[in-house]
Amino acid sequence: MTILLVIAMEAEAAPVRAALGLEGPGQQLHLAFPAHLWATPDEEVAVASNGTDARFGVAAIATQPAVTTTLHAIEACAPRLVISAGTAGGFASRGGEIAKPYLASRVVFHDRRIDLPPFDRYGDGDYAVADLSAVATSMGLATGTVSTGNALDAPPSDVAKMGATETVAKDMEAAAVAWTCEQLDVPFTALKVITDLVDHHETAADQFTRNLALATKTLAQTAADLVAALQDNPLLATK
Ligand code: SAH
Repeated sequence: MTILLVIAMEAEAAPVRAALGLEGPGQQLHLAFPAHLWATPDEEVAVASNGTDARFGVAAIATQPAVTTTLHAIEACAPRLVISAGTAGGFASRGGEIAKPYLASRVVFHDRRIDLPPFDRYGDGDYAVADLSAVATSMGLATGTVSTGNALDAPPSDVAKMGATETVAKDMEAAAVAWTCEQLDVPFTALKVITDLVDHHETAADQFTRNLALATKTLAQTAADLVAALQDNPLLATK
């Protein structure tokens, strides 16, 4: 059964597909959405990429495409595990470095501020994450909280929230992918590689642009290693 990687930007997905030996134009998942799916002939591994927003002409990042792509890709390939793979902001104060990969141990939202219990907990999400700590240890992969929001910057309230959850990777998709997986009862994790440091004087955008190529190279290699480790792992052979 398939391990499915869901990736936001084509700049992230192309190197991952190359490392996994996935070629060709892929299959469009739904006529109304730009996302495409690639799978190996044995259907052991698949990659879904959000594609380019038809109106704005940019990579379809952030939470809405993350949900639709994940839903349509799960319907297409019935995966045993979904991995939200991509880049993220890191935190030097918590050991973060440019191009460092992290596997999720927890996935939350940091910008759904709904100060009206019990909607506060609904907003934060805190979705189910597959326990892959043994695989992470064997690969020497760091683990930690991945926190998602719909902004590239980080205002003080978001920074405080990410401090409280000891976030190591700040992205714009993982929790949305995780929510979709939780609805469909599909195991989920996230693999994120750091392109920029949130606690750095430079803007995330400047750091992101400079470090994207290096980070996606690490993402491709680590994703291939992780998929190989999961395929070899008898504990994870069935759902
Ligand atoms: N300027 C870029 C846009 C990248 S947006 C461009 O057009 O090429 C950031 C993307 O990378 C999102 O998909 C998000 O998941 C991830 N990401 C990397 N660093 C991030 C950060 N500091 N905060 C939030 N998301 C980040």
